[in-house]
Amino acid sequence: LQDDLFCRLAVTQGLLTPEQVAEALEIQRTLSRPQRIGKILVAQGYLSPIQVDRVLQAQSEERGRPPEPEGTARKRESEVPLFGRVVLEAKLASAGEVEECVQLQRELAANGEYVLLGELLVRKGYLARRDVAHVLERQASEGESSEVAIAETGAQDRTHAFGLLVQLKRLASTGKAAECLAIFQELREDHEYARVAERLVRKAFLQHAASRAGREGLIVKTCNGCETASAIGVGGGPCARCGAPLTA
Ligand SMILES: [Zn+2]
Repeated sequence: LQDDLFCRLAVTQGLLTPEQVAEALEIQRTLSRPQRIGKILVAQGYLSPIQVDRVLQAQSEERGRPPEPEGTARKRESEVPLFGRVVLEAKLASAGEVEECVQLQRELAANGEYVLLGELLVRKGYLARRDVAHVLERQASEGESSEVAIAETGAQDRTHAFGLLVQLKRLASTGKAAECLAIFQELREDHEYARVAERLVRKAFLQHAASRAGREGLIVKTCNGCETASAIGVGGGPCARCGAPLTA
């Protein structure tokens, strides 16, 4: 609910497009650990931390006040999001159809409902669902999917770090300990993600150790030094992460 107000304010202040909010909300849904929308938007490079602070400030002022029917700043009124521009370039829908859906997208956003432009075009029957993937591919190859606030200091680094974290999260549950460790090296100094990255690495090792133990009749032992689990035999063995000797 807080995130909802945050998004509406950021859109009416012209800081974000409904498209960007929809994208961030989609990412939020896929994360297993809940993450505030502001953080995701910063990681995406759509907002700078300073902009997030400003919206949060406006949010606390806004609370308890009846919502204004018209937004104060409507800078992006005539702007067609990148997805729409690619659709037009590829001649997959007409300018009128895209414009109609952009308009509809804004109206929905004003009510706190953020839908991706592609989804609206499909719902209206203006774009085939299989073409959505095609458009996203072209969009990615144009390399400007997070075009807006990327120039803000550090935003690009944060996007990279966040991407690594998402990758690590995916790998951790598969037990690919070595690959997780490699990604972890890049995140170990990260002030924001180092701790969660460490937990994910331990999870990967545990997963790996548990499956080895099951297969090879070994036992799972946690190292006192690095607090990471390894599979060892009855005679003991080295910690799979730091090499310290472990006894059964
Ligand atoms: Zn160890």
